[in-house]
Formats: sequence, C-alpha cells, structure tokens
Amino acid sequence: MKKIARTRKPGSARATQTAPKTKRAGTAPASGTRLAEYRQKRDFTRTAEPRGGRRKAASKLAYVIQKHAASHLHFDLRLELDGVMKSWAVPKGPSLDPAVKRLAMEVEDHPIEYNKFEGTIPQGEYGGGTVMLWDRGTYTYGGSDDVDPLAALRQGYAKGDFKIELRGKRLHGSWVLVRTRRGDPRRAQWLLIKHRDEAAEPGSDVVEEYQTSVATGRTMDEIAAGRKPRRKRGV
Ligand code: MN
Repeated sequence: MKKIARTRKPGSARATQTAPKTKRAGTAPASGTRLAEYRQKRDFTRTAEPRGGRRKAASKLAYVIQKHAASHLHFDLRLELDGVMKSWAVPKGPSLDPAVKRLAMEVEDHPIEYNKFEGTIPQGEYGGGTVMLWDRGTYTYGGSDDVDPLAALRQGYAKGDFKIELRGKRLHGSWVLVRTRRGDPRRAQWLLIKHRDEAAEPGSDVVEEYQTSVATGRTMDEIAAGRKPRRKRGV
C-alpha cells in the first residue's frame, strides 16, 4: 500500500488512501529502486557522498543547489519528489532574468541525504571535484493553488512542465522547468526559467553574486582545502 498524500501526517484519512490500481503519471515508485543508478555509479568505500536509505514522508519538500567543480563547473539543482531528489545539472546555473533560459540536463535521482553534502569527491571517482552547498530551502508547486500541490507536482514533472515555487536562502519565487524534445531520452534536456514576479531581476547575475557556501560560508577553494566552516547557518 503506497501513501499518496505525503504532505499529510501518517494516520490522517488522506495518508492511508491506496494508490490507484492502474499505473499512471503521478504514482510514486519506491525510493530504493530509484537510487539504483546513483549507487551503481559510486564506490562508497572511496567517496564520502551518502549511499541513501529509506525516507519517511516529509511535510515539506526539500530544495537544494550544489555548485560542483567537476570536469566542468556546473550547478546541481535538486528537488524532492516521492522520497528522492530529482536532479538536474545546470551548466550556467540559475538566472533571475525571466528572459534567460538555462539548459538543465536531468541526471540520476539522488538520496535526500545528499542535501547535506559539501566537500570533495576524490579525483578518479564519479563526479570527482569540489561540491558547495550554494542554496537550500524548501519548495512547493508553483501553479494555481486550487489543486492538490503534490499531485500537480507529479503531473508537471511527468508532462515536462514542472512549475515550482522556491523558498531558499538565495532563490525565491516562481520558476519552471520545461522539458525539451532534444537530446538523448535517457538524459532528458530541460530549460530552467524564472517567471516574472517580485523575485525576478532582469539583467542580474545571481551566480556571480554568491561565491560562498550557504551552509558554511566557505569559498570553493576553502572547501577544497578542507578549511573549517565559518558559521553553521546563514547566507
Ligand atoms: Mn554534479
């Protein structure tokens, strides 16, 4: 029996509803099998990245962006959905300018524990290089509020029209990820676009503006050097 209303507390009427018998967009596969590709790519005896375990239902959906100096510098956008972090590699990072569309290549689902990972993946390992926690917070469905937000998120993701409202330390407001038809279907390409709202800033460069960890205040060089955190919280 699958819980389909993860935003509600266990024991509430909605949480004990069973999933529909017919498979359709919006039902949730178990997170254990969804992390198979993530685990297969990594040697957990060599990297400090988390293996990921079973997760309880969370009342808020997590959002994180990690800056990752791998063979090519990029930003990893991760959005919690059904017990895993849906993940996109965004080469140029997010833009607050609604006129700017940023390429976002979908990558394998990551464990929710990955949201706390900051450090260095050993060279020669998958994704070898420095990882910074660049932004974090929660997110919700970014479309109209007369629908079940979790069902709308699942449907939006499945349709390739993923409307989100970010509540991070650095990024806020309404965004959309739009799946394009181009590219390898196993590595789907999306566009990350800021909607026009109060958090939009035409002409700005938010990636240039924030050069330190949202979690520890460290620069990429300081993380790579293993320097101690400047502070535990804050921008
Ligand atoms: Mn990455």
